[in-house]
Amino acid sequence: MRKDWDKYFLDIAFKVKDRSTCPRLRVGAVVVKDNRIKGTGYNGSPSGMPHCDDVGCIIRNNHCIRTIHAEINAIMECSPEERKDATIYVTARPCAECSKVIINSGIKRVVFAKDYNVDYDWFKEAPWIEVVKIDQ
Ligand SMILES: [Zn+2]
Ligand SMILES: [Zn+2]
Repeated sequence: MRKDWDKYFLDIAFKVKDRSTCPRLRVGAVVVKDNRIKGTGYNGSPSGMPHCDDVGCIIRNNHCIRTIHAEINAIMECSPEERKDATIYVTARPCAECSKVIINSGIKRVVFAKDYNVDYDWFKEAPWIEVVKIDQ
């Protein structure tokens, strides 16, 4: 059977994840609008800075704070017009901070694979955003 679009783009997010540079948790994200990819991102250090894989993570409160998260990197590749009403595909449930940025970005749909314990579920307060978990 032909793969549906959600599975197709989520698979691509898993490919993108392979470029992540933090061994704590590797995440990939893809922003899609009208079935076209507008941006991709993985969690890694800011450009020009050393990576967790090379110099180790910086752990604060049990999180690695060295990286910019995949969702933020993917959203930053998009223009405001490109991300408006778009879907973001993420290999793991977005964290609380990324959830707030997704809500503010204009994205209207979130599709993720692995569940992740978030500090706070901001999407509960943004019912206009559809959040879908798909088993990979
Ligand atoms: Zn790290
Ligand atoms: Zn995040």
